[in-house]
Amino acid sequence: MRKHNRTTQPGGFLLANKDLREAAARASGIWGSFHSHPISEADPSNGDITGGPRDGHAIIYDLIGDEFRLWRISRYKWDLLKSFDFDRSWLFEAEDD
Ligand SMILES: [Zn+2]
Repeated sequence: MRKHNRTTQPGGFLLANKDLREAAARASGIWGSFHSHPISEADPSNGDITGGPRDGHAIIYDLIGDEFRLWRISRYKWDLLKSFDFDRSWLFEAEDD
């Protein structure tokens, strides 16, 4: 389920509480979230930690380094579960078809 950014702050992302309630109501629960970092590594920012969920999972994508990191969040503590590189070569292979 995709939700829109509620902030106009450059580099910022804000979900509205009503969007979260709507998502939770439509699903059996919220497993986690995904967002990208256009100019920083795929580590949680201070805003992610202080303004993000208390518990759950998050996947952060580093657009410059082409790396995904999967985090488990427990009581605002973020633990890295897995990181993996994004292989862009398949994008170019698809263009050859
Ligand atoms: Zn972030």
